Amino acid sequence: MTVKAYGAYASDRPLEPIDITRRAPGAHDVQIDIAYCGVCHSDLHQVRSEWAGTRYPCVPGHEIVGRVSAVGAQVSNFKPGDLVSVGCIVDSCKHCADCSEGLENYCDHMVGTYNFPTADAPGHTLGGYSQRIVVHERYVLRIRHPEAQLAAVAPLLCAGITTYSPLRHWNVGPGHKVGVVGIGGLGHMGIKLAHAMGAHVVAFTTSDSKREAARALGADEVVVSRNPGEMAAHGKSFDFILNTVAAPHDLDAFMVLLKRDGSMTLVGAPATPHPPVEVFNLIMKRRGLAGSMIGGIPETQQMLDFCAEHGIVADIEMIRIAEIDAAYERMLKGDVKYRFVIDCASLAA
Ligand code: NAP
Ligand code: ZN
Repeated sequence: MTVKAYGAYASDRPLEPIDITRRAPGAHDVQIDIAYCGVCHSDLHQVRSEWAGTRYPCVPGHEIVGRVSAVGAQVSNFKPGDLVSVGCIVDSCKHCADCSEGLENYCDHMVGTYNFPTADAPGHTLGGYSQRIVVHERYVLRIRHPEAQLAAVAPLLCAGITTYSPLRHWNVGPGHKVGVVGIGGLGHMGIKLAHAMGAHVVAFTTSDSKREAARALGADEVVVSRNPGEMAAHGKSFDFILNTVAAPHDLDAFMVLLKRDGSMTLVGAPATPHPPVEVFNLIMKRRGLAGSMIGGIPETQQMLDFCAEHGIVADIEMIRIAEIDAAYERMLKGDVKYRFVIDCASLAA
């Protein structure tokens, strides 16, 4: 079937209306009418070809929420009318060690929601800036939040799981001092989640204007990272730092804030090569530096349920699809509190 979408035909062209086709649901497929789609910084990196290998036309979007409109004959967990969501993954090999452990995000054959090879036309996946998507049931998540919060749930599907997964992996909880670097889409979720897990949360920002807002998100303290004095006051004191910065920056400024055996995990994926870290800052206090990519499907459901239980959603600014390019420019300036979400009903206009 043909549905309306928004995408780009080249890295230097704005997004524009584009008709795409979705497959008829197969036996294990769920067809979802998309209500809202969050706008991740990864969408911008990809559509503008800042990372290698963008396939055009590129229809981004991997923070998808909506309602089931049809299911395949073998689907028993979902039925038409259910509120559901899809994140960054729409397929994987389903049998490797990673898939068996529910870590489909690390499967070598993971198929991302956009820009990954697929049998469907046009030969690569097309994301959530569209009216409808068809996805294998394994990669569909249930929403337990009230329907009124649906739009604000969308960013949990990437910003939420990408911060939840490392916070859980590094066992963040009561008694831990945790830093979250960068208060954007990912960072603001990291603050909310680490706070809900019981940690003492310190938000690091380059934007003085976000100081008060960060406290409202659940930060116990806020540090403007451009101020060396404020940074030095936290030397050797953190158990864990989650770094969401989308651009190359000085990692050592944060490494020296970790205490012995502390670690920093990077989730930001800058488009240009990153300056290295000073090895002695690792060795001297047995500090760790790691990375983490989104999260597996079972953990994504766990995260959604945790958020429903704790009343956590994203802070969003709703836009119509025609405003997407302006939204990208504002995101680049850090001018969004904290996630744009597209009202996909505007695609019909
Ligand atoms: P975002 O909303 O643009 O937030 C990034 C934040 O980083 C900004 O709000 C800003 O916060 C800070 N920042 C930006 N440029 C900076 C600079 N030059 N120096 C220091 N701080 C800077 O982006 P997002 O959607 O949260 O995504 C963040 C990054 O994570 C992107 O690179 C994205 O592609 C990546 N990502 C990775 C995964 C994964 O699986 N690992 C998943 C999703 C996204 P302040 O104003 O507070 O300083
Ligand atoms: Zn994302």
